[in-house]
Amino acid sequence: MKILIINAGSSSLKYQMIDMQDESIICKGLVERIGIEGGKLTHQYGGGKKYTLESPMKDHTVAMKAVLEALLHPEHGVIKSIDEIGAVGHRVLHGGEKLTKSVVIDQYVMDVIEENIPLGPLHNPANLMGIKACREVMPETPMVAVFDTAFHQTMPPKAYLYGIPLKYYKNLGIRRYGFHGTSHRYIAGVITQKPGLEKSRVVICHLGNGSSLSACVDGKCVDTSMGLTPLEGVLMGTRSGSLDPAVVQFISERENMTATEVVNMLNKQSGLLALSERSSDMRDVYVGAEEGDEKCKVTLDVWAYGVKKYVGAYAAAMGGLDAIVFTAGIGENDYRSRASVCEGLEFLGVEIDQDKNKTLRGAEGLISKDTSKVQVWVIPTNEELAIARDTLSLTQK
Ligand code: AMP
Repeated sequence: MKILIINAGSSSLKYQMIDMQDESIICKGLVERIGIEGGKLTHQYGGGKKYTLESPMKDHTVAMKAVLEALLHPEHGVIKSIDEIGAVGHRVLHGGEKLTKSVVIDQYVMDVIEENIPLGPLHNPANLMGIKACREVMPETPMVAVFDTAFHQTMPPKAYLYGIPLKYYKNLGIRRYGFHGTSHRYIAGVITQKPGLEKSRVVICHLGNGSSLSACVDGKCVDTSMGLTPLEGVLMGTRSGSLDPAVVQFISERENMTATEVVNMLNKQSGLLALSERSSDMRDVYVGAEEGDEKCKVTLDVWAYGVKKYVGAYAAAMGGLDAIVFTAGIGENDYRSRASVCEGLEFLGVEIDQDKNKTLRGAEGLISKDTSKVQVWVIPTNEELAIARDTLSLTQK
């Protein structure tokens, strides 16, 4: 069965088609600038070939039609008929407390995604537009929603409640939800298949432009670093991560900014970018540090110190630690970042093999010493495959 994965943003739509027989990628692509001038589709197929189309993309339905045209194109296409697409899997940001695992999309599911718009104001409306556009252009094809929040729904109240009046939780749903759940779930699935780690206490470090950590006991999430929104937690590319909430009022009053403007600044102009005053990209920050830029050096220290504190906190929360997993752009590719997070964690039983760590990039492998009490793994994440697998299992007859 061929499955189409859709990840719709407010002005973009990413897609990927996977052949579930061997889980290979048939094609993937991106529609950019939906609803604004300069609409463009980039379609990659046939192992490295590329086709681009510049055309106005009025809305997500037009974008979805362009995707289908690319998929069916006599030269650049990969299928002969829409019927070859067995099902569509949609990445959806926020399922709230009602949608706690992947589900076949029906009217109820769409209503709940809509209900959760206040919790995911940028993504949920876009995800919904993607679903509606798909329904319009391929009404007969079954669709599944896979939520970024779902994996974290196993957290107990002690991990998800904030210490504010309960009415805000009860009436407004304010609590820790956590994000990157599809990635954390995929990694938890892989790590619990390793010999000796079927029953285990694992910290998963998803370290990319957006970063989050999760504490997983026997493959189930018991805590995670992102909160009501993806702003909480560790320092990220442009997000500040956790800080004293009074900072919002302080800046707002002194700089004459609204709370929304301050939170926007915390989301888009903070993190690595703000501290390095150079770039939100970890590679650039390393280049700066190598050139002797003190701001970049401090940025790297703040970043690693913050991640390390979460690892320690989660080891305490789980009453011990059996494995650490690094994943996503930084976690998969950057040995320096992995080494600086693990440095000083020897007291927990973490011993990195520096040679193994240094040579491993973008591939799965164990980077701890044979004597290390805690296994340290690098495992490339694959959110699209996780979405495709859910979609297959929920739709195959
Ligand atoms: P992601 O959001 O998962 O795509 O990750 C993006 C982040 O990964 C950016 O900060 C990149 O700088 C970082 N990244 C990718 N490759 C490397 C690398 N080789 N060394 C350091 N950081 C990297």
